[in-house]
Amino acid sequence: MPKTVKDAIRRGRKTVETVVEEGRRKVENVVEEGLNKVETVVEVGFNTVETVVVEGRRKVETAVSRGRRTVESRFLHGGRTMQAAVLHGREDVRIEDVPVPSAGPGELVVQVGAALTCGTDLKVFRRGYHARMIVPPALFGHEMAGTVVEAGEGVTAFQPGDRVVALNSAPCGECYYCSRGQENLCDDLLFNNGAYAEFIRVPARIVAKNTHVVPKGVPLEHAALTEPLACAVHGFEDSGPRPGDTIAVIGGGPLGLMILHVAALAGYETIALVRREGQAVAAKLLGATHVVQTRSITEAVEATRALTPNKRGVDIAIEAVGVPEAWQEAVELVRKGGTVNFFGGCAAGTHVSLDTNRLHYSDITLRATFHHTPEICRKALDLIADGRFQASAFITGHAHLYELNRVFETLMNRSTEIKTAIVP
Ligand SMILES: [Zn+2]
Ligand SMILES: [Zn+2]
Repeated sequence: MPKTVKDAIRRGRKTVETVVEEGRRKVENVVEEGLNKVETVVEVGFNTVETVVVEGRRKVETAVSRGRRTVESRFLHGGRTMQAAVLHGREDVRIEDVPVPSAGPGELVVQVGAALTCGTDLKVFRRGYHARMIVPPALFGHEMAGTVVEAGEGVTAFQPGDRVVALNSAPCGECYYCSRGQENLCDDLLFNNGAYAEFIRVPARIVAKNTHVVPKGVPLEHAALTEPLACAVHGFEDSGPRPGDTIAVIGGGPLGLMILHVAALAGYETIALVRREGQAVAAKLLGATHVVQTRSITEAVEATRALTPNKRGVDIAIEAVGVPEAWQEAVELVRKGGTVNFFGGCAAGTHVSLDTNRLHYSDITLRATFHHTPEICRKALDLIADGRFQASAFITGHAHLYELNRVFETLMNRSTEIKTAIVP
């Protein structure tokens, strides 16, 4: 073979070898890279799978644990949990799942039909506690009416299905004050809270002394007004009204309006002293003979006195705000020989200064009515049932239990609401 041919073959072989060699390298690279990629994917996939498994396991465990708790609670508490408002502290009310209460001897369990918001609850919401009535964490709310679902051993006055109003407290009946008919001052006043809930347990003492069947035709939310109305009736009666008296009520809150309404229904000439337009409208609607609407105390005193003969002042002034300025204002409103009732409770530690000359030489009687007695609660329910009492005027809103926080926030912002019915 000629040299050139041999050379050509050699070169060609080399080229082929090179191509083969390069091709092999390329393939190896691709395989190598592919392998790496597959390993990475497997690695990542494995991690992902592990994470999913771990998370899944946690979810399952949580679900099992929650489920077990619910099941256990159902076993322990007759089959149910319920939603209830629990007060934890200042402006901290949470709707929680708690066991449905059961009735011990003498007790009732009542399915709440309506629970009403109240100035006291608002104070408690703001301050986080009430030394006498509630210490957190605790079930919350105290004005309610509902239907008996369970009557404990020994209860004869009520049975399941009865519509009842159970008051927020009951006196002991044995202490010095109880024996003198001043049960509102009982040394051992038993309070009950937990009205903002689906069910409430009523302690034996309250069942025995301060629970009533709601008369047919009276809506439960109206019956729930028994407690605040009892306070209002007590404040009114304690002021010793006599026929022909003119009664001034300071304050357009729920209790001020209630006292005013009670006095108007009893036929007295009344003067409502309020600050806001909505309160003035409500006062008129509830029977106020006159309404004095102003933010100035001096103006309020002058205008009120101007409504009495020779500006002598009113026979009775009832303060239902609970601030020292209003306490002082009340003393300025009454005539010689008149009566002042400091009905609104001020914050602990509050002091007021009063003109002693005026108190003494004008022979002014000072009273300060607190709370209610079982007899007055009965009277309050009778008043609600009698049809003339405008219960629906006091309930200006309705809300569900889970909206309770929002309701309190609205009430704190001085809305025009009087009371909101919380329906579980
Ligand atoms: Zn109340
Ligand atoms: Zn007592």
